[in-house]
Amino acid sequence: MNVQETGIRVAAGTKTSEAFSRSRNSFQQRTAAVAKAAAAEVEEVDRAARFPQKAIDAARQERLLGAQIPIELGGDSASISDITDMCYALGRACASTAMIFAMHQTKVACLVRHGAGSSWHEKLMSRVASEQLLLASSTTEGQNGGNIRFSSAAVEHAGAEISLVRNATVISYGAQADGIVSIARRDNDAAGSDQVLLAMTKDNYTLEPTLGWETLGMRGTCSAGFELKFKGSAEQIFPEAYEAIHAQTMTPVAHLCWSSVWAGIAAAAVERAQLFIRKAARGSGGQLPPGAAHFTAAKMSLTKLRAIITSNLDTYAARERDQRALSSLEFQSQINLLKVEASELAVATVMHAMRACGLSGYRNDGDFTVGRHLRDVLSAPLMINNDRILANIGTASLMSAVPVTLRD
Ligand SMILES: Cc1cc2nc3c(=O)[nH]c(=O)nc-3n(C[C@H](O)[C@H](O)[C@H](O)COP(=O)(O)OP(=O)(O)OC[C@H]3O[C@@H](n4cnc5c(N)ncnc54)[C@H](O)[C@@H]3O)c2cc1C
Repeated sequence: MNVQETGIRVAAGTKTSEAFSRSRNSFQQRTAAVAKAAAAEVEEVDRAARFPQKAIDAARQERLLGAQIPIELGGDSASISDITDMCYALGRACASTAMIFAMHQTKVACLVRHGAGSSWHEKLMSRVASEQLLLASSTTEGQNGGNIRFSSAAVEHAGAEISLVRNATVISYGAQADGIVSIARRDNDAAGSDQVLLAMTKDNYTLEPTLGWETLGMRGTCSAGFELKFKGSAEQIFPEAYEAIHAQTMTPVAHLCWSSVWAGIAAAAVERAQLFIRKAARGSGGQLPPGAAHFTAAKMSLTKLRAIITSNLDTYAARERDQRALSSLEFQSQINLLKVEASELAVATVMHAMRACGLSGYRNDGDFTVGRHLRDVLSAPLMINNDRILANIGTASLMSAVPVTLRD
């Protein structure tokens, strides 16, 4: 039985072996502690549009920021299933905390899957685990919106040194992060779609604020705009082209983690609706209020939402190490459609919860308010706009065959 199977972690680089249970139960308990901290500050985080510092401190305390890092580099080797469970649980407590966690974990997944074998990236993985570094993401650039597969800013090369200046219109928790993972054009002569991914730590870059973050929801993600100026070493560029990282890891992991966050937000709204309907029924001798049908509809769409996420999780897990299968048209269409479908279902679920609660849900005070949930979840269809995704995969959808069996 190997180290991973026994669930015992031996801390890398230390003499004493640290018994450390990485069972699902341990992840659940550790996530519950973070969710508790997130729930305690959620209202204030939303009102003030401030970073959920206590929740992220708790995630560091519970060593969840490095959960995906391989055991031999000091992490827990958490699976995509473990991580999406965490995103769901955090989404129920505080959408901003959960989205920050989801974006960080997506960057860590890129490091783990595409940084292995590169000593610079392996060192960063060890640091993420030991120092619990928080990594942010820079893909959006200028007026280019969610067109991630095109970069304007290019990496400048001067021997082994490189630099980058990027108009990063949106970097969630950019000011609070310990590092950034960014896309860029390979060099000055490269086409916009010939991109690389590079990882940078705080000592390599400066951020000059250019845009604030005064938004309807997801206010605690603090997704402000910055001019990003980076100077570092060529080793910081991931060995593989971004095209491969995008297809095999960035898109699937982002869509699975984001969808789990949105499902968590939807679940929290459904829970409030359930409490409301139960209270109303108790107050009228067991008679269900008229809004009960909307509660049933909310539960039904939450069930669908969870089902499509878990089905896509299984599909991804089965192909995780198969680069060809991950890059196939079928898989790419499926994982992009997951984002579209999950975001629409999450919004529909919260809307049903709101209608089940009626005015009690619409109010910003009281036990049954779902206003914050609705504001937060409305970011889902926009975050890489569903219209853009649907337009992009139109041709691929035409080319892929219609399934002949239920489990194709
Ligand atoms: C909460 C949150 C956090 C974020 N965090 C980050 C972050 O950390 N780092 C980062 O880099 N980015 C981040 N983003 C930005 C995100 O990744 C997208 O870039 C952004 O949401 C797209 O913005 P947009 O609507 O202005 O652009 P667009 O995608 O250009 O959309 C603008 C409009 O054009 C329409 N449209 C665009 N393309 C098409 C098309 N092909 N067919 C039809 N209609 C189309 C859309 O429907 C929309 O109405 C975040 C966004 C949100 C909401």
